[in-house]
Amino acid sequence: MDVSEIIIPGDTPGTTWRLPVLRFAGHDPKAAKVYIQAALHAGELPGTVALHFLCERLRQAESEGGIVGDITIVPQANPIGAAQSHFGELQGRFDLGSRTNFNRDFPLISIADRATLIEDLDDYPATDRLKRQLLHMALGADLVLDLHCDDESLQYAYIDEAFWPEAADLAAALDMQAVLLSDGESSAFEEAVGFAWKYEIPGERRSRLPGRLSVTVELRGKRDVDPALAKKDADGLWRFLVTRGIASGETAATAFSGPAVPLDNVEILRAPEGGAVLFHRNIGERVAEGDVLATIVTRPGQPGGGIDLHAPQAGLILTRTSDRLVRRRGDLMKIACDNPSKASRKAGTLEN
Ligand SMILES: [Zn+2]
Repeated sequence: MDVSEIIIPGDTPGTTWRLPVLRFAGHDPKAAKVYIQAALHAGELPGTVALHFLCERLRQAESEGGIVGDITIVPQANPIGAAQSHFGELQGRFDLGSRTNFNRDFPLISIADRATLIEDLDDYPATDRLKRQLLHMALGADLVLDLHCDDESLQYAYIDEAFWPEAADLAAALDMQAVLLSDGESSAFEEAVGFAWKYEIPGERRSRLPGRLSVTVELRGKRDVDPALAKKDADGLWRFLVTRGIASGETAATAFSGPAVPLDNVEILRAPEGGAVLFHRNIGERVAEGDVLATIVTRPGQPGGGIDLHAPQAGLILTRTSDRLVRRRGDLMKIACDNPSKASRKAGTLEN
């Protein structure tokens, strides 16, 4: 394992960021290359701890000559966000200086222009430098996994339709409970990678990308940082690397049996008013149309001071907010359903 650091000068005197990059060199130059990062939203650590254990296994494999394709791992992709603690609370999703989501505004370029990502880096503030460096590394690989997590959540992934159903091997290896098929139109990291491949020949859009993969994996909820889950996920990532011929080893073939639905089939349950939320149903449960999912206590103690919220259609509860004081229009749940939601959705990502 080779460990190096990308140095990112801070935007104010006296600050510098350091981004450790772990590399395992494969012995077969024809094998697929993989890039895996975690915690781009700085407080999302299930992937970081899974990669800790995966690297242990990869070092063992390396000592036995078992690394076939090049592997690049960035276990903690966002040192800038990780330092943004205000009033005792981490803000790892948005860059406080520019008010942008750390997982949006990645440059949408053709892979033919990959080298330009790291030219003239001094022209960019630290957050943009970080994004350009991460995207540059990812575009050196064939397979790209961006490990995130949700709030209270099952394990699921956002996968561009261009990679489906080939990517079912990843869903099976990690034992995912659902897959959301996206249309690939945003500036999120995973979609910027896909964009670069689709427009390899500028002006010509490829709709299938065989042999390639770029996904956002939601490794359950933000509090699911746990030694048993981390080792299970490390095992899952290992299985995927073996399946794709990047590491050599034995794995039992498994199949993905969960739902794979388009983003349009995700119902987002929103609070019609603010108040204290009482959830009647939990993540992982299948619900029927009309089931009471939550009650918002809007005027405690007063007659009629609660509002019941019902399932708009049958589906599997993927996520739930961990907040119990919720705001008007706040997202409470994501439900993966069999049919498209009647609620209108902006193209691109489900959330800001
Ligand atoms: Zn995230």
